[in-house]
Amino acid sequence: MPEQACRLAIHGGAGVIDRAALTPAREAEFRGALQWIAAAAWARLVAGASALDVVELAVRDLEDFPLFNAGHGAVLNSDGVAELDASIMDGRTRRAGAIAAARTTRHPVSVARAVMERSEHVLLAGGGADRFAALHGLELAPPAHFITAERAAQQRLAAERGRVTLDHDAIFNPADKAGTVGAVARDAQGHLAAATSTGGMTNKHVGRVGDSPIVGAGTWAEDASCAVSATGHGEYFLLSALAHEVHARIALTGADLKSAGAAALARVAELGGSGGLIAIDHRGEIATPYNSEGMYRATVGADGVLRVAIYAD
Ligand code: ASP
Repeated sequence: MPEQACRLAIHGGAGVIDRAALTPAREAEFRGALQWIAAAAWARLVAGASALDVVELAVRDLEDFPLFNAGHGAVLNSDGVAELDASIMDGRTRRAGAIAAARTTRHPVSVARAVMERSEHVLLAGGGADRFAALHGLELAPPAHFITAERAAQQRLAAERGRVTLDHDAIFNPADKAGTVGAVARDAQGHLAAATSTGGMTNKHVGRVGDSPIVGAGTWAEDASCAVSATGHGEYFLLSALAHEVHARIALTGADLKSAGAAALARVAELGGSGGLIAIDHRGEIATPYNSEGMYRATVGADGVLRVAIYAD
């Protein structure tokens, strides 16, 4: 099947990204990372890789990039420790895997995939997720691997002020951070997949789990409808079953992707939550709505052109 079926979108989080505080050098760093990671993922996709492989590999690259809130460079909890959440879903089979509050797995998204493919479970949490990764020979890393000086400083500041915050929150220098990561893809066979990975929210309670590893909240993929990866204030995304909401609107009401995404996000906003999502539907439409100031993202649509964006323009 022709590579015309291929579509890709990745994100590096949505939030208050203050334009004035984002220096040209910092902006160039973010744009460069999104460009490089999306280009590598796109090359694999048009070479025939499955959507599932491509979203996993793109999220692994995003996890390794220290400015994004996932893997190395993830935000820290109230103990100053990174607790990592990730999920992945295969639209072809409607199978999914996820881990929550893991502390020693270098690539949470790959452990999530292993949970999907090598266990009878969907979600493993805490020490159990770390033990599963070790048992299956997946790459481990000591807790210190995930901590950067910037994230440690953010956590101290949030703790001093008694706040639990999104990593772009205005109490920080907004130029210093970017968020949760995710990828959605449609492959040459027309199959969809989605993956999401995060450190969650700065200074979160130990053991707090957000939307990202919850199938139906942070991630959904189903060939007949769409693939979705969300980012934002996780509690509100959980309460809106955001990713499944987008799917359900398409599958049950015949809505198009843009209106399904906007309506689902409106439910998050109704509760006071902000954030965004990236999505690709079964027809190859791409949508990247957000109700925050910006969302780090890159897309490749039907024209094969890679577009990187942070703000609306
Ligand atoms: N949704 C993530 C969480 O609440 C945070 C983010 O997207 O930046 O854990």
